[in-house]
Amino acid sequence: MTGSENIARPPEDAEARRSVAPVICYPNDALPRPDLPWMRSVRQRAAKTGEVLVPPREARCFDVPAGHFFRITSVEGPQVGDLNLWNRNDLSERFYSGKTRALHGTHLTIGERMWSSFPHLRPMATIIADTLEWYGIDAYGGSVHDVIGTRCDPYTGNLLSGTQYHHCCHSNLTRALADYLNIPMDEAEPAVHDVLNVFMCTGFTRDTGRYFMKASPVRPGDYLEFFAEIDLLGNLSACPGGDCSSEHSSDTAACYPLLVETFAATATDLDGWESPARNGYDRTHGR
Ligand SMILES: [Zn+2]
Repeated sequence: MTGSENIARPPEDAEARRSVAPVICYPNDALPRPDLPWMRSVRQRAAKTGEVLVPPREARCFDVPAGHFFRITSVEGPQVGDLNLWNRNDLSERFYSGKTRALHGTHLTIGERMWSSFPHLRPMATIIADTLEWYGIDAYGGSVHDVIGTRCDPYTGNLLSGTQYHHCCHSNLTRALADYLNIPMDEAEPAVHDVLNVFMCTGFTRDTGRYFMKASPVRPGDYLEFFAEIDLLGNLSACPGGDCSSEHSSDTAACYPLLVETFAATATDLDGWESPARNGYDRTHGR
């Protein structure tokens, strides 16, 4: 018996059902809007406080106090990065890729935010600059800076091809977090979470809905810049996929470093500003 013999016959009104117009799940005109002009004016007066160069196939951590800024820049060659964010004072509050996707869509750009996990669910960082904003959505349905991929990891590699590869983003992020916080690897690994795929160009195929990637349009000098809404611990991996034009769980692809720079707002510029409050749900869950 072939699979096709098992396919149920379409009902008489199949086309009518398919032609129902979609409804946006979370109309985001209800979301609190970031004050981008204010953030940009604060940024203009901000002073650089540090930088870290993330080596290819490695990850590095960095701190960004609330009200400060960080910029991720492509240097030397096309390279994608896998970004994790935590509340610097509470690692249980971390970036929530799935809810961010539900709120903003599959790819992020200027004015959109990285939201934190339950029960906090508040903005962690707001994108204030994106030199790849021009890319939009290409003919394949691809776009950049996605929140649909998870991160390349050695478990999927082992599942699909039996490999033991140690420089997937998952492992890079785990080592970097363990080193930065001086904690054991088995404590660091569960804190690593689904990422923002910085500079990566991805989408879903229209015919089968499969996750795809293609060569990133990023070039040296391109950057993505964020306003830190809360005290942040960042962790960025320079993916072993390089520009992700072919494969991403081996040492085959050409890889380049990524530069992370941090900038401090002047003290008076933050007068009257506060981090967003944690989510207001009372957490009684009906009991
Ligand atoms: Zn990766």
